[in-house]
Amino acid sequence: MSANGIETLALLKELRELTANAEGAQRVAWTDTWLQARRWFESKLEGLPVEHHYDAAGNHWVTLQGTSKKCLILGSHLDSVPNGGWLDGALGVLAGFAVMRRIIDESGGRPPVTIRLVDWADEEGARFGRSLFGSSAFAGTASIESDRSRTDSNGVRWEDALKKCGVDIDSIGEATHEREEAAAYLELHIEQGPILERLALPLAVVLGTKGVERYTVTFHGEEAHSGSTPMGARRDALAPAAKLALEIRPIAGKHPDAVCTMGSVKTFPGIVTAVVGRCETTLDQRDLDAEVLGSLLKEAREASERFALEENCTVEWSRIWNIEPVPFHPALIELCEQAIQEVAGSSYRMPSGPLHDAAEVARVGIPTVMLFVQSLRGISHNKIEDTKEDHVALAVQALDRLATKTMKWIERQ
Ligand SMILES: [Zn+2]
Repeated sequence: MSANGIETLALLKELRELTANAEGAQRVAWTDTWLQARRWFESKLEGLPVEHHYDAAGNHWVTLQGTSKKCLILGSHLDSVPNGGWLDGALGVLAGFAVMRRIIDESGGRPPVTIRLVDWADEEGARFGRSLFGSSAFAGTASIESDRSRTDSNGVRWEDALKKCGVDIDSIGEATHEREEAAAYLELHIEQGPILERLALPLAVVLGTKGVERYTVTFHGEEAHSGSTPMGARRDALAPAAKLALEIRPIAGKHPDAVCTMGSVKTFPGIVTAVVGRCETTLDQRDLDAEVLGSLLKEAREASERFALEENCTVEWSRIWNIEPVPFHPALIELCEQAIQEVAGSSYRMPSGPLHDAAEVARVGIPTVMLFVQSLRGISHNKIEDTKEDHVALAVQALDRLATKTMKWIERQ
């Protein structure tokens, strides 16, 4: 017996029908469409021997009681970005649901370990800019005080939007109770990048989520008239920024999975008749290895200082945000690789550049692993996001096998 990928595809299409328009999926967390998606999912639980409830942070938990209280958790998120894709998050929840139903059928409703399925609240942070909301509340890493004052683009306060959905912002810490007896966490997700398609492979085991260092890098020169200031007398703050934008390529290029991005460059005064006096840039650097991440940062800093000096400017760095790399569990990585090999013939190991709820779960010490399934054209957060249907079916099978292997692994612990 194995979980049915055809049924998962049918459910994904039903959800798309219900919650997407011509521009794509509209299941933005804390909106009516999101609540509608969740009610739809609740309706699929009718008649199954499971308990379900929403925790203090709005995560939806479905529990199939096993002989042992130790829990295998499967999960992902039903929320989407505005104009999002049909698979991002929803695939992981509905594939987990297929696995749960297969386990119900095979065990007569009483598996050896307890199985829990979770739909995390607000993974995307699309409306209020705070991603991984529900899973960070579960992990106890949520930052209520700094998040409380957030508003959406219409000025609606986050606190009020949560309340409308039954979540009291001051109580979200109680979601940590759901960690009791958690023995392992598995998440299937679309890759959202081009690597597996380039390798012509359907599935990969994810080694962990990359750490991120995110900085504002500001170069200071001197504003001057573009007509009267000779080239040799200028302190043009754009020049060292431009050099840095190119230098981050060889800096990242020394490491196979490292990425560096200068996503924003603003010049001041920013007019056609003035030499740039100040140039504000952002730098985002990521790698799975903390040492590599540290050296990316050090090299970029040194290069910026060198370029500033060359251009008679100065540079200043200020950290916007950072997160450490989160490696997944070695034993579960092995099991995941076996599961993928059994269904697809060959596997591949890769880190995840995007963050996922799985990172929050792994951060609190719950053994965790993720599987990626190929994304067509590497596109996500877009209505054209897609994956071949036979790859979706393979992914459901691989998650199913991994769940069986992980249940046995939990029993041996
Ligand atoms: Zn996602």
